Amino acid sequence: MVSPESSSMFSDSTLAPFKTWHTLSADQTLQILDTDSETGLTSEQVIGRQQQYGLNELKEVPGRSTLEILWDQFTNIMLVMLIAVAIVSAVIDFRKGNFPKDAVAIFSIVILNGMLGYFQESRAEQALAALKRMSSPRVRVVRDGKMQELAAKELVPGDIMFLEAGVQIPTDGRLVEAQNLQVREAALTGEAEAVIKKPSMELTEDAPLGDRLNMVFMGTEVIQGRGQVIVTNTGMTTELGRIAEMIQGVETEPTPLQQRMTQLGNVLVSGSLALVALIVVGGVIKTGSFHSLEDLLEVSLSMAVAVVPEGLPAVVTVTLAIGTQRMVKRHALIRKLPAVETLGSVTTICSDKTGTLTQNKMVVQSVQTFDQVFQVTGEGYDPVGELQLITSEQNNTISSDSEVLERILTACVLCNDAQLQQDDNKWHILGDPTEGALLSLAGKVGLFRDIHNHKNPRLAEIPFSSERKRMSVICQLQDHENPECVMFTKGSPELILAQCTSVLVGNQNVLLAEADRQIILEQNNAMAGKGLRVLGFATRPLTILPPEGEEESAEQELVWLGLVGMLDAPRPEVREAVKLCREAGIRPVMITGDHQLTAKVIAQDLGIAELDSLSLTGQELQKLTQTELEQKVEDVSVYARVSPEHKLRIVQALQKNGEFVAMTGDGVNDAPALKQADIGIAMGITGTDVSKEASDMILLDDNFATIVAATEEGRVVYSNIRRFIKYILGSNIGEVLVIAASPILGLGGVPLTPLQILWMNLVTDGLPALALAMEPAEPAVMQRPPYNPRESIFARGLGLYMVRIGIVFAILTIVLMVWAYNYTQGTPNPERWKTMVFTTLCLAQMGHALAVRSDTQLTIQMNPKTNPYLWGAVALTTVLQLLLIYFPPLRNFFGTHFLSFTELSICLGFSALMFIWIEMEKVVYKWFINRR
Ligand code: ATP
Repeated sequence: MVSPESSSMFSDSTLAPFKTWHTLSADQTLQILDTDSETGLTSEQVIGRQQQYGLNELKEVPGRSTLEILWDQFTNIMLVMLIAVAIVSAVIDFRKGNFPKDAVAIFSIVILNGMLGYFQESRAEQALAALKRMSSPRVRVVRDGKMQELAAKELVPGDIMFLEAGVQIPTDGRLVEAQNLQVREAALTGEAEAVIKKPSMELTEDAPLGDRLNMVFMGTEVIQGRGQVIVTNTGMTTELGRIAEMIQGVETEPTPLQQRMTQLGNVLVSGSLALVALIVVGGVIKTGSFHSLEDLLEVSLSMAVAVVPEGLPAVVTVTLAIGTQRMVKRHALIRKLPAVETLGSVTTICSDKTGTLTQNKMVVQSVQTFDQVFQVTGEGYDPVGELQLITSEQNNTISSDSEVLERILTACVLCNDAQLQQDDNKWHILGDPTEGALLSLAGKVGLFRDIHNHKNPRLAEIPFSSERKRMSVICQLQDHENPECVMFTKGSPELILAQCTSVLVGNQNVLLAEADRQIILEQNNAMAGKGLRVLGFATRPLTILPPEGEEESAEQELVWLGLVGMLDAPRPEVREAVKLCREAGIRPVMITGDHQLTAKVIAQDLGIAELDSLSLTGQELQKLTQTELEQKVEDVSVYARVSPEHKLRIVQALQKNGEFVAMTGDGVNDAPALKQADIGIAMGITGTDVSKEASDMILLDDNFATIVAATEEGRVVYSNIRRFIKYILGSNIGEVLVIAASPILGLGGVPLTPLQILWMNLVTDGLPALALAMEPAEPAVMQRPPYNPRESIFARGLGLYMVRIGIVFAILTIVLMVWAYNYTQGTPNPERWKTMVFTTLCLAQMGHALAVRSDTQLTIQMNPKTNPYLWGAVALTTVLQLLLIYFPPLRNFFGTHFLSFTELSICLGFSALMFIWIEMEKVVYKWFINRR
């Protein structure tokens, strides 16, 4: 063991690597780290230590190396096939004694595509790293004697930090004190069970990590209780730093859509290989010789290249990335990429009440003792205002010196962990707003927590949890005559009343009769019926302190003090968001720990529930079997007094009924429900680190309206993805049919070289497709029911559209091809028909891109300004296409031919037919719908 006297051997530079803090007492640790448990470090100490130890960060786990990312680009099955095509084409050219132009070009395009993919992926990784930084946790510390909240990365050895349930511990540290502090250390020890920490222990040097009960470690999670910790090690010198690769970041798994795209790629590649085999073998059998092998190979290679939509994977990735950016702008931080596309399919949003639907700015409105009601004046958290007696059952004397009221106000400050602070003449709170409101109430009569806590030290506590719905403290009351100590309890009135046996009336303890209980419950209902959040207060004198760990046993035979009702006004923007939800076929559901009446009043006010809507309490839910719950969930809009484990059952029941559920949560125990939900949503401001870790999305402003906004963005992303898939694959089908038709019609040779096809797939298809990904929301996007999340990407007519448009595309081009072939034969440059086919295919796609923006609206009805990118992409692509024909170096490279003005106009005319066709389809579709 190391004695404090030996502290001099730990010069600042050796502090961090020092690993045997568990052998020291808390006092020794404070001494060695030159800090104070009450006032923390001074600003100068912090600056010095920050320079010395740097930020409290783990070095990023090296992701894929540059080479690995690059290599992955070229192992993509589509590119592998292109490389194979290039090799075969080079062999053919060499045999013919030609320069292997196609092969060189294909290789260039493969490299270009690989580089593009590489830059996109690197950018995506950077964007995800930025998202990760945004979700980095904050922590409460005391510095210069002042409580403050700061980013965990700013912690230095010697800082005094405070832990509470749900916190992911950001450094290693020695505990100074702990109240029922339970920590899950699975990340470090693999042990799933939470351990109860014991600050008073001093251990031997060889105590294994899992047994170091006087220490806490980075990356582990507080499940219950509270604790005060001296930071001992930060960043890479922590235990976790040594195994840094275990840290989880923002997850980057491919989305279902990306997976389906990869599968589609595989199918297309295998399909095109089969096509090559079919054409070659069929051709050889038909001609009975191998002479035409090279021609056959040429046709089949072109077809193989045409089938594969080379530009598609890049466009999908970019669209998802754009989606996350749009969502961040609307305060929704995506943690798991699949959420971007699946958000649009949400059918039910289960939301907490406090802070998400309401403002989480509590203001106490009234205090009710058994026989007196006090109205409270004042605004915000300012401890300014009055308590006015408005009714009194027994007499009408103003008794602000009422003993009961005084006890309630004392309980407000002692049974409280929040801080009321004044900065720049403005009062604000650190900690739970419910507790902040109580501090502000007590402040109105001059009771302040710091002074009171000092006079009446806290001896023990049972912290608040959503399951227990109450909090108790045991304090030494200095100015109290008889008892050694007193317990104060606050929380859900029904639960606290159930533990009471008497009630304080005036200054008398009166036995609580059944009729009195009914009166109190009615008082509670009356306050809750006004939409107030009501807390009950009780007390109990104790002659002896209950043994450590058994404090809960003292929460009985309590003396009822009264009720405090506070207003937490609904967020004004939520009403509109709820309306939008309903129009979009999404059902909003409130799940709250609060009283049923409070919940119902607020739900009605916001439009979540009607007067006669069904609501369930946690107690009622508990009695239902899962099957019974499944039958009820569709009709219940408000769940009150629920515990986190009920949330899990509610999600499961909804999912069983085929609902696609988004669920919010903030506490540690909400994590299972968040994981189970299709979209788990954590609160950015009030959420615990554990809930954030389990979520798919974080609300940066804790606001329900943000969920609805993100859902809207999800729908936009999904419909844009479908839009460009329609556009790209329709074109591929058209190309294949045109190439196949040429030898069948005996036109001799392939109209398009692999290089030209690649140009089309990557550039003339790719650029407008990217622009289609920027398409804003259609006006009706939130006025239709959600689509089935499990539907195929080709559902709702998309597959049929692709085939239909592919065929129309092919017919138009084939008609042009036959005409152009005959028209150019016998002229000085008979190969021009191929360039005409190439040009028509490209320009027709431009019309397709413009028309595909909407299924129902005609292009002239749409405002071109809403997607200027598309018009830019169409203009740029058209110019590039013309350069391929009229700029000699490009013409030589791409093997095109000069077209006269008339020939170009004919191509343009045929291309325009494609646009006209799609617009006509819309007219017919509308007419059909109107008739129905
Ligand atoms: P929501 O689940 O919508 O966020 P909520 O904030 O009411 O609602 P909880 O935080 O689980 O849910 O609180 C449940 C109940 O516990 C409250 O209605 C209140 O009666 C009681 N309560 C809340 N905060 C405290 C606290 N700090 N101390 C004691 N009791 C509390």
